[in-house]
Amino acid sequence: MIEKRQFYIDGQWVDPATPHDHAVINPATEEPCAVISLGDQADTDAAVAAAKAALPGWMATPVAERIGYVEKLLEVYKARAEEMAQAMTLEMGAPISLSRSDQVGAGTFHLTNFIRAAKEFPFEHSLREDLPAHRIIHEAVGVAALITPWNWPMNQVTLKVGAAAVAGCTMVLKPSEESPLDAILFAEMMHEAGFPKGVFNLVNGDGAGVGTQLSSHVDVDMVSFTGSTRAGRAISKAAADTLKRVHLELGGKGANLVFADADPEAVTRGVLHMMENSGQSCNAPSRMMVEAPFYDTAVEQAAQAAAAVKVADPQQEGDHIGPVVNAVQWGKIQDLIQKGIDEGARLVAGGLGRPEGLNKGFYVRPTVFADVTPEMTIAREEIFGPVLSVMKFDTEEEAVRVANDTPYGLTNYVQSTDAARVNRLTRQLRSGMVQNNGTGRAAGAPFGGMKQSGNGREGGSFGILDFLEVKSVSGWAAE
Ligand code: NAD
Repeated sequence: MIEKRQFYIDGQWVDPATPHDHAVINPATEEPCAVISLGDQADTDAAVAAAKAALPGWMATPVAERIGYVEKLLEVYKARAEEMAQAMTLEMGAPISLSRSDQVGAGTFHLTNFIRAAKEFPFEHSLREDLPAHRIIHEAVGVAALITPWNWPMNQVTLKVGAAAVAGCTMVLKPSEESPLDAILFAEMMHEAGFPKGVFNLVNGDGAGVGTQLSSHVDVDMVSFTGSTRAGRAISKAAADTLKRVHLELGGKGANLVFADADPEAVTRGVLHMMENSGQSCNAPSRMMVEAPFYDTAVEQAAQAAAAVKVADPQQEGDHIGPVVNAVQWGKIQDLIQKGIDEGARLVAGGLGRPEGLNKGFYVRPTVFADVTPEMTIAREEIFGPVLSVMKFDTEEEAVRVANDTPYGLTNYVQSTDAARVNRLTRQLRSGMVQNNGTGRAAGAPFGGMKQSGNGREGGSFGILDFLEVKSVSGWAAE
């Protein structure tokens, strides 16, 4: 049993003020794989105090030096990539091949992009070329609390830590209590990279405890949060009294508009994207909306593609999917599959229960519902499991209306070979991201949502901007 009860505060590993043991469950076995401690107010206060004390020094550290620390971090991160992949597979069940490539790879990608973006970022400049005495200074927001989820853990941690570090913020990270081991390893990497003490701190804990303590803390200047819309609301309320900046990356219910003229791979690609990471991605294309003349063919293709998705032990190499993270998520997904059946959607792949041959572990059958209508629960709620809803539309107007008829606005997708249509729809879709015809986001492209999917933008220069204040100076003296 792995025992990792300590927190990383002010450059060293310290015991919790009062131990509160918490078992980390391996979702593939349903057995505990580690024990951590959940922090309480005293631990939160100690971490925030360390971050506050380190702030003036870190803000005064030249940007080039701050970038240097992130470069060193990237080196350490790459050197310890296998340990990181193993930690994520153990605690949140991502198949080891996916952990090595995408889960760890996301961290490498983001840190690399922040290094490049920070080197080019105009931290200080004149308001206009002809106004040298009027200056804009971008300076750190201050002490940043970083609260992260379990589904793409290193993706989220590096998106926040990389940006905060180059911006000059000091940090307290509270990772998800479902996936603390990767964050503890990350804290070891921060230490190895030599960040000055207090710049980065880690306290484990749950949302009701450390999460709320950080959100309401008078000495925390900003919360950067990724997770559920429910928690985003709670954090916004807890943060209100201190009027701190709150950046939110929340859930989604992405529409994937597939037109009859889409490329032949569009449906299969959409299904595989939905199933990746066992459907536990906020930007999953969970509503596949298909143009009427192509609908029957698309349903058949989707059913076949889902039936071909293998589900297996995450420790095995290969391109199968693993379990979902925990019993609560498994139960929630089963309830929503049952709701889909009860409300009259047509099950064409998967369904209730575990896949054949898997009697233990939080495994879910890759599931596709056809004939889903906009008012059904499975068309409205984020399922966060390998469950796809296929819907039919007749006109472009209807497609846009239904796609936008959701409280969420994270990522939408268009599949069509008609260039004018792709661009027209891109403008009409209300989401922070639109990804067309199977393209991914480029290095440094901002990640974030509209409406109840949140308000922050992460990655590259947009991500750095999130951790900066704008100081407007007049009377900047010529030296
Ligand atoms: P969650 O919101 O319960 O937990 C996320 C984190 O928030 C954890 O660290 C948790 O301890 C903390 N937390 C929970 N309640 C809190 C509170 N009241 N105050 C402060 N912190 C609190 O969500 P989850 O179950 O870990 O993740 C799944 C959800 O997150 C899904 O809805 C998914 O769409 C969303 N998500 C969104 C993004 C994005 O970028 N938009 C990325 C990943 C996950």
